[in-house]
Amino acid sequence: DRALATRAELEKRFAGLSLPNRLYIDGKPVDAADGATFDRISPRDGRTITSVAAGDAADVDRAVAAARKAFESGVWSHLAPRKRRAVLQKLARLVEEHAEELALLESVDMGKPYRDALAVDIRVTVQTLDFYAEAVDKLCDEVAPTDRDTLATITREPLGVVGAVVPWNFPLMMAVWKIAPALATGNTMVLKPAEQSPLTALRFAELAGEAGVPDGVLNVVPGFGPTAGAALGRHPDVDAVTFTGSGPVGRLFLTYAAESNLKEVSLELGGKSPHVVMEDAPDLRTVARCVAGGIFFNQGEVCSAGSRLLVHRNVKDELLELVLEESRGTVVGDPLDPRTDVGALVEAEHLERVLDHVNGAVEEGARLALGGDRILEETGGYYLEPTVFEVEPGMRIAREEVFGPVLSVLTFDDADEAVRLANGTDYGLAAAVWSRDLSTAHRLARAIRAGTVWVNNYDESDVTVPFGGYGQSGFGGRDKSLHALEKYTQLKSTWIKL
Ligand code: NAD
Repeated sequence: DRALATRAELEKRFAGLSLPNRLYIDGKPVDAADGATFDRISPRDGRTITSVAAGDAADVDRAVAAARKAFESGVWSHLAPRKRRAVLQKLARLVEEHAEELALLESVDMGKPYRDALAVDIRVTVQTLDFYAEAVDKLCDEVAPTDRDTLATITREPLGVVGAVVPWNFPLMMAVWKIAPALATGNTMVLKPAEQSPLTALRFAELAGEAGVPDGVLNVVPGFGPTAGAALGRHPDVDAVTFTGSGPVGRLFLTYAAESNLKEVSLELGGKSPHVVMEDAPDLRTVARCVAGGIFFNQGEVCSAGSRLLVHRNVKDELLELVLEESRGTVVGDPLDPRTDVGALVEAEHLERVLDHVNGAVEEGARLALGGDRILEETGGYYLEPTVFEVEPGMRIAREEVFGPVLSVLTFDDADEAVRLANGTDYGLAAAVWSRDLSTAHRLARAIRAGTVWVNNYDESDVTVPFGGYGQSGFGGRDKSLHALEKYTQLKSTWIKL
């Protein structure tokens, strides 16, 4: 509901911020043990905004020791649930008060429109904190129906020290999807944000301290994957790692766990999510708007981006024309400009990766229907046009995750073929079905192997509903909803002989 500031106002505000750029360990900002730092370059203009302490194994050791000490002391894990609730609710209010500052940090750090950071990332962060805070003193444990001369209780206990490693596309929101349920259930944590987007996590840790989260309960160690990330994954005193990111790195975390202490690992990975548009789809203009929104929102840097449009041959031409129209109307530009729909890709290397996918598709014979070029190069930022291809199922662009504003369009002739195409990748994160026929919609929703299926919409979400994938989109429990609490607790069976 806030009136959006102009670009000039936001630039001025950003210049006035003191940027959080040190590790946050045991309730204090500290430098890396070896003094190392890395530059944070804003993708909006390619300029360095600050340098941030680069954590490595020694810093992860310090953070894990602080988290272990805090856990064992009981200062958090033994606190009455309603007291933990009060602290997390206070933290939610502080995030709300600092919403504009956090949205600004997020936008400049990783390139998403400020408007979206405020309306989605920060709003959902607040909702997530409130939801798990509210839940924590409403859950009761169980008594099993055993013989009369015994009493067997089944109680949930925290895991201990939880490591969280997160990506750069929704930096704070995704971290809080993990932090809120893990802290609510009494764990302590070490978070490693992505090296492309550490600022909001560091500011959030300060706010957590202000809200009354005790020292050592939430530690943040920015740094690179193969150093700080691997050290956390391999640490013998970390009880669980919750990871969101790419498949190859997810596999590494399984190896780290196997080679160290068999810590629990949960993985939220990539996707190649399809829209399945049947001949009897509702209003094609609405479909087109959702297809464009589903792939261009957040620059297409969304694990559940609707990156494949599977459309019935009889409505393909009409729908494609409408999708192109919507795509042409999508404004790419400075993330701080309130008119911007699509901001900058996160970093130069990522822009190159996305362009490689685009060029590869052209070489494979895909028909480029729109876009495909870098634009606004004079700003120094990393911008790409909304891009639409008509492709064949065997092409790489039809199967591999691009993680950019690139849509692949395929046609089918009947529902069986649509399901085969929809299920024809290694992933299974999300899908949409568009049909006016109730039975068709239900049949397809059942047949598609995905953690989320949207019918006649895309991207509906709520903190009460689980999020996660089938197949190589991940496993080990879901984020969001009460089910996420299972991921951060273990069951204890206690037998009492009466
Ligand atoms: P990434 O796997 O490269 O990085 C994610 C995190 O892992 C970062 O913090 C990074 O520093 C760390 N990391 C990288 N290499 C590491 C290593 N060798 N050891 C330990 N840690 C390491 O992913 P990304 O490029 O940041 O994010 C994009 C990917 O994340 C996409 O595949 C996307 O689909 C996926 N994603 C999934 C979800 C979901 O909920 N399923 C949400 C967002 C993003």
